[in-house]
Amino acid sequence: METCPADGAVALQVAGAASSSAHALSSLLTPGPSLAPSPSPATATGPIDSSSPAPAPRPPIDWVAIERRCRAILPARGVVAARQELLAYDCDGLTLHRWEPPLVVLPETTEQVAALLRLCHREGVPFVARGSGTGLSGGAVAETPALVIATTRMRKVLEIDLPNRRITVQPGVINSWVTRAVAGDGFYYAPDPSSQVVCSIGGNVAENSGGVHCLKYGVTSNHVLEMEVVLPDGTITTLGSGLAETPELDLRGVFIGSEGTLGIATAITLRLLRAPASVAVLLADFTSMEAAAEAVRGITAAGILPAGMEMMDRLCIEAVNDYLGAQEYPADAAAVLLVELDGHQEEVAVALELATERCRQAGARTVRLAREAEDRARLWQGRKSAISALGRRFPSYYLQDGVVPRTALPEVMRAIGELSERYGLPVANVFHAGDGNLHPLILYRSDEPGVGERVQALAAEILRLCIAAGGSISGEHGVGNDKRCYMDWMFAPDDLATMQLVRQAFDPEGLANPGKVFPTPKTCGESARRRSEQPALAAVELF
Ligand SMILES: Cc1cc2nc3c(=O)[nH]c(=O)nc-3n(C[C@H](O)[C@H](O)[C@H](O)COP(=O)(O)OP(=O)(O)OC[C@H]3O[C@@H](n4cnc5c(N)ncnc54)[C@H](O)[C@@H]3O)c2cc1C
Repeated sequence: METCPADGAVALQVAGAASSSAHALSSLLTPGPSLAPSPSPATATGPIDSSSPAPAPRPPIDWVAIERRCRAILPARGVVAARQELLAYDCDGLTLHRWEPPLVVLPETTEQVAALLRLCHREGVPFVARGSGTGLSGGAVAETPALVIATTRMRKVLEIDLPNRRITVQPGVINSWVTRAVAGDGFYYAPDPSSQVVCSIGGNVAENSGGVHCLKYGVTSNHVLEMEVVLPDGTITTLGSGLAETPELDLRGVFIGSEGTLGIATAITLRLLRAPASVAVLLADFTSMEAAAEAVRGITAAGILPAGMEMMDRLCIEAVNDYLGAQEYPADAAAVLLVELDGHQEEVAVALELATERCRQAGARTVRLAREAEDRARLWQGRKSAISALGRRFPSYYLQDGVVPRTALPEVMRAIGELSERYGLPVANVFHAGDGNLHPLILYRSDEPGVGERVQALAAEILRLCIAAGGSISGEHGVGNDKRCYMDWMFAPDDLATMQLVRQAFDPEGLANPGKVFPTPKTCGESARRRSEQPALAAVELF
């Protein structure tokens, strides 16, 4: 049964502009005491292990007693303990692996989150923060028994401060609601993951999410000014200061992208941008992926910085046309490239001319231009619904997320095609081409015996390919539990050990999202063995 991601289906509460909460918020914005590194077993006894610290033996958790205490903290509807309801939280957007949590809670306020974390701290209960559950790296799941703290009832806009171009929201606020709240005044929030109509700002912060417009405007970390955070011992603190630049150690930056391992963000102040004066979108179609990738290279070489530059291959084009019930993209194309240009009118006109020329030089058959808001939205709708469209045709897919330098795109696209053939598994490609951020979707039938291992082996080869090309094992979907065993492909033991020290400074007991991001000896020992037994891990040879 495909139950996830489920939280998107939870009825959305309308975000009220609760400016009065700004006062409540400001009274909480006092630095908390517990960021000084406490002596952890690792620091006390010498060099730390680069893998996740083996959890100290804890007495078994009495979940019935924990449920009773959670009920004392939260309103009745804030505790989910019925088996059939817990199933909705057994995975995130990565549906390959599932773990049913023992208990889920739905706090509504910072104080309730703090009370829950104090309870966890006192009783030694691990916890997992969860937003909308659209993550693609198994980050918001309780792989070992843990209290899942979902923010789906924390959906208030707390303050809109247009003169200073800022907005403060609770973490469960949906990404696209932020722009909706300020669009009438000519502002918008730039980071726009393709999941933006359902993913939460808290999840975006934890994953440092990107999106179509991050090529020009930067990812989430470039747009978060300040955060109210509840630390794993229940302390409420503030990271950042609401200003663009301040002189202290950037703990705000440390928290962003930490995948729920340092605490729970309970209020987030975001930077707003003025909507550009002029916007145009180009759609160019090609007879090969390599040609489309050449166009990406040509456009950037011409000195143009598009707001977004996205690519889709034939499998995606067919699925999207079918999903939209229209031939929105040329049906016989091997690849399409969408290029958005924005800025002042004259600037956009010059960039349009240059980008069109570069697309044609790379072999584009046609270049279509959309200037009107409605036409642009239609072109983007196809791109943004590509994964759902593929999901309708191929109910089981495994979406990878790797990065390569833009200049390596043509070779890497060819190599992914070869790997797909070698493994006998179709791979669809829809991705942020301007950032070199690949999203190969491995399509499979879940009822085929042994397919899970084959899918994972192919995904691992694609990541090796990315590293061999000078890239990374993750661009924006995070590491979670899915890629923790690949961390040592990129980082030396000392790097991982240093990251662990930072984590332990926030969370000496290791209660926050245990087992995520860092390799654990148990799970990665096994998977490392499995990987070395497979004959075909030589993606590096493709270069
Ligand atoms: C169809 C589809 C398209 C996508 N497109 C993109 C894309 O273009 N760009 C992109 O970057 N991602 C994309 N994603 C991935 C995903 O949507 C993002 O990672 C998103 O930020 C996750 O948000 P969420 O609310 O669903 O978080 P969840 O999945 O619930 O959680 C993700 C992580 O955040 C932690 N977390 C959640 N809330 C908090 C909090 N308040 N405090 C601390 N930690 C917290 C969790 O513990 C977990 O580790 C896509 C996913 C899907 C399904």
